[in-house]
Amino acid sequence: MPKTKKKYAPAETAPLTAQERVSRYMRGNKAKHTQPELLLRRALWHGGLRGYRLHWKKVPGKPDVCYPGRRLAIFLHGCFWHRCPYCAPALPKTNTTFWAEKFARNQERDHRNREKLKAAGWQVLVIWACQLQKDVPGCLFAVKALHAGVPESYWLEAA
Ligand SMILES: [Zn+2]
Repeated sequence: MPKTKKKYAPAETAPLTAQERVSRYMRGNKAKHTQPELLLRRALWHGGLRGYRLHWKKVPGKPDVCYPGRRLAIFLHGCFWHRCPYCAPALPKTNTTFWAEKFARNQERDHRNREKLKAAGWQVLVIWACQLQKDVPGCLFAVKALHAGVPESYWLEAA
C-alpha cells in the first residue's frame, strides 16, 4: 500500500476573523506580504538595512517599506496594477475602458503620494517588481545609496 502523505492545510486558508475582514475591506484589498515584497525585505535584511517599517500609516501612500529616520520611502510596485514603464504589461482585452480608467486612477494616486512625500522632505524610490526579479543586488544598491544619503544631523534636526 503506497504511503500517502497528508498535506497540512496552509495557514492562509484559516477563516478570517470579523476584525480581519473589516480591515481588509478598509485597505481596499491592497496586497501585503506578496512574493516580491518578501524578496525585497529579505534582501534589505541581509544587506544590513534593518529598522524599516512596513506599510507605515503615518506617511502618505503607506509605502511598502520606509525608513523614518532616513526619510526614505520605498514603493514596490506591481507591474500590472501600477503600469510598469519597463515591461509595459498589456491592457486586459475585455472591459478595456474600465481598466484604463482604473489604472489611470492608480497612477494618479501614486503620483500624488510621491509628491506629498517629497514635499515633506522624503526621498522616494520606486522599485518595479520586474526590476527586482531581474536584479536584486541592483535594487539593494539603489536603496543603500539613498539610505546613506541623508546625514544623521538632518533627521535629528527634523525630528
Ligand atoms: Zn515591470
